Amino acid sequence: KKIIIAIDGFSSCGKSTMAKDLAKEIGYIYIDSGAMYRAVTLYCLENRLFNADGSIQEEALRQQMGQIQISFQLNPETQRPMTFLNGKNVEERIRTMEVSSHVSPVAALGFVREALVRQQQEMGKEKGIVMDGRDIGTAVFPDAELKIFVTASAQIRAQRRYEELKAKGQEASFDEILHNVEERDRIDQNRTVSPLRKADDAILLDNSEMTIPEQKEWLKEQFEK
Ligand code: C5P
Repeated sequence: KKIIIAIDGFSSCGKSTMAKDLAKEIGYIYIDSGAMYRAVTLYCLENRLFNADGSIQEEALRQQMGQIQISFQLNPETQRPMTFLNGKNVEERIRTMEVSSHVSPVAALGFVREALVRQQQEMGKEKGIVMDGRDIGTAVFPDAELKIFVTASAQIRAQRRYEELKAKGQEASFDEILHNVEERDRIDQNRTVSPLRKADDAILLDNSEMTIPEQKEWLKEQFEK
């Protein structure tokens, strides 16, 4: 019987790597809910919905929410998921520091969360999915059969993020990344709608000292229990 697996946790702690690997191995669909918040943020940047002080033109965004279409497709060559915004492949663009530094206030808006959570719940109707994010076990699928909450020290998360961006040829300083990771966590934990927190029935994993294969193994064990 197929189940729903919810993987939540802090920024850049390797949730998506673990989730993607597990989904592939057990033949489930992987959904990156963060990509959806990032796509809405990219839409705001492209359509000048941010004011100079970084605040959002909420009314304009509220009115345009209905015309923001987000979907996923597998890259036929790499088998990796690609994110589409209104028909355009935005996978690369949603991973930039510019999007990372604007996403948390967008994700704090109740009407944005309502719209995306509804779409995520729709995707989960099929079962057999692994979804990662911040509120999957608490708000999107409170009845998920397996919930994991991942954390690691901020220094380690920033280091991993730094290496990931560098591998993609994106220039960002370690300090800038550390600040972004900590700032996002702070905003995500303090927002009024679905703040980032561990669900009571989620299994806590601190992967600071674990390699990627070790994390994969650990997650597979939780699934098989
Ligand atoms: O997972 P990722 O780091 O790509 O998510 C980007 C941002 O989207 C997070 O910092 C958070 O503000 C928001 N997010 C959220 N709820 C989710 C997934 C992501 O609020 N389920």
